[in-house]
Amino acid sequence: MAASRTEPRSFPRPSGPIRSSRIGPLEERLARLGLVSDWDFLLHLPIRYEDETRITPIAELQAGIPAQIQGTVRSADMIHTARGEQFSAWVQDESGSLTARFIYFYPSVKQQFLPGRVVRLYGEPRRAYAGGLEMIHPKVRAPVSDVRDLPHALTPVYGLGEGVQQHWMRKQIAKRLLDLNGVAELVPEAWLKKLNLPTLRAALEYLHQPPPEADAGVLAEHDGPYWARIKFDELLAQQTALREMRKLAAGASAPALLPNSSRSLTSRFLERLPFPLTGAQERVWRELAADLEKTRPMRRLVQGDVGSGKTVVAALAALRAVEAGRQAAIMAPTEILAEQHFENLKRWLEPLDVRMIRLSGSLKAAEKRAALEAIASGEAEVAVGTHALIQESVRFKDLGLAVIDEQHRFGVAQRLKLRRAESDGEAPHLLMMSATPIPRTLAMSYLADLDVSVIDEMPPGRTPVETKLVRIDRRSDVLAVVRGCAESGRQVYWVCPLIEESEALDLTPAVDCRTALEAALPGLRIGLLHGALAPEAKRLVMESFEAGEIDVLVSTTVIEVGVDVPNATLMVIEHAERFGLAQLHQLRGRVGRGGGRSACILLYDPKLSETGKARLRVIRESADGFEIARRDLEIRGPGEFLGERQSGLPLLRFADLERDGALLEAAREAAAEMLRADPESARRLASRWYASASNLLCA
Ligand code: ADP
Ligand code: MG
Repeated sequence: MAASRTEPRSFPRPSGPIRSSRIGPLEERLARLGLVSDWDFLLHLPIRYEDETRITPIAELQAGIPAQIQGTVRSADMIHTARGEQFSAWVQDESGSLTARFIYFYPSVKQQFLPGRVVRLYGEPRRAYAGGLEMIHPKVRAPVSDVRDLPHALTPVYGLGEGVQQHWMRKQIAKRLLDLNGVAELVPEAWLKKLNLPTLRAALEYLHQPPPEADAGVLAEHDGPYWARIKFDELLAQQTALREMRKLAAGASAPALLPNSSRSLTSRFLERLPFPLTGAQERVWRELAADLEKTRPMRRLVQGDVGSGKTVVAALAALRAVEAGRQAAIMAPTEILAEQHFENLKRWLEPLDVRMIRLSGSLKAAEKRAALEAIASGEAEVAVGTHALIQESVRFKDLGLAVIDEQHRFGVAQRLKLRRAESDGEAPHLLMMSATPIPRTLAMSYLADLDVSVIDEMPPGRTPVETKLVRIDRRSDVLAVVRGCAESGRQVYWVCPLIEESEALDLTPAVDCRTALEAALPGLRIGLLHGALAPEAKRLVMESFEAGEIDVLVSTTVIEVGVDVPNATLMVIEHAERFGLAQLHQLRGRVGRGGGRSACILLYDPKLSETGKARLRVIRESADGFEIARRDLEIRGPGEFLGERQSGLPLLRFADLERDGALLEAAREAAAEMLRADPESARRLASRWYASASNLLCA
């Protein structure tokens, strides 16, 4: 923690006028833009274009539409204004005249505008204050000798980092475009024909140097066959990488986890369970059991909406590992959730004489050492903890199964890490669980190395949660509802507004929020839970809430996942507009857990825009996590959705999963086919895009 806080200080962002001395050598600046190899430069596609292929008569200029003109300088002057010196030149062609104005300029600009010279200007004309048209800071080409000497392609404008010049970048990229022989066409011709796509060379040439007649609108929208070609290449690379990962996993061997009649843990567990499995739970358990019997490591994601009962399924899988004589590890993204899993599972597993151990940050050094020893000796049969369980220092005697709960918080990087934690060539089976339903396009794209099972049925007795949108200025009405709820013996979650993504930084609003509620609700027992609390303190707060010793639990989003207190029937979320839709759905899932009629109140800022309100209405109107996730994806985009830093695989640069769903489907098919017919080319294509991630392929 301390290390990550001081990090920004040791890498100050360059600022102020003395930038050039701090930005480092050119290579470093380029690396920051992701520009290392020739391929990187070629993929540095223009952000827009300037049309310098034609000259517009001044009389035909339209305010706001960039254009190029050519005329003779009639006069040029320095002007003194309140804001300092400006340079202004009057330029005339046969049709009319305009003023070129410079607020910032080098002295040399005067040489370019010597009266009588012919100049060519590119810029955005606008109505001048004093009447007539002007261009501010136009691009100047002067003097012009040959009138017909115009470029044959639109001029690309590239994204630039600090200390990189536009003309330098153009030259670098143009140089590489001259020799595209190194850029082999790796996509089979049949696919290009089928999808009606140009070759990679043609696409790169077109996008960097579009012909004058190119449709600027189509290019700006990243539409049309040339963009599609680039996107297809990218998607194909991604699908190939994911397939390769999957194949590597499949090549490893795993222990076959078979039912055991002498220590029949799974069947005894099912007999003792106070409720029958739902049909969906039963089906998914059958799928898991079948995977676990194989000597190929399972890689399966179980998706099920909040409250669908994933924990039971995980417990069954863990028990199967134990009855087969192996260990199981269950990992959760937060200490609180790990704690809850431990307590719940203990209730279920201890009567079956399964030896469990907890590995968490709240353990004292000696306890931790003992836990690690028990894991290494095999004394511990089921270990529950945070992702600390996949750290280097944790050695299992013979891990048969790893369960990762709320996998969207983990991502591919951890999947790979886990694989590395394998002991002598044998991989554990891997079960991932997620309550954040991942929309199909995303699942195909980022989870292509996994099999997916869905728990699409809720246990009986779940009460639908009534959701209300209330303006924050009606807080006092809401406080009355909270009091009524607490006085009838129910408990309440009060979720504080989200300020920062980091759990550690949202301390102040939570503390303030508690103080305010204590003042507004005298007599009620109010607890506080936030990410900056020590793990032990968090556990104590959760325990008293579970025991009913707290009426209102003020909390940040640390309760977002997994927490299960059926007596809590009301949730208030302050500034709901600051949360993502999927997150609101997860939060709301904490109530309606069988404790009677439940409600969720979303407090919103009255200044909220119409679209903002429309978003919140999605939550009010839908209880379907998939539908909500789909809308969330639409609104926020996949980067946010999966958490870029956690996904482990670079997110897509050019393709857009929502818009380019059809290309993704095609790429998926093509990747499978290419890996079969021409694996060499498929791998070359993937490593072209993921050069820096090539270790990912052999992890
Ligand atoms: P999630 O899928 O969100 O992790 P949990 O596993 O926490 O859901 O289950 C939510 C609640 O439903 C728990 O209290 C659990 O005991 C209960 N539950 C799970 N399966 C069933 C079932 N088949 N019938 C009744 N209750 C169930
Ligand atoms: Mg859960």
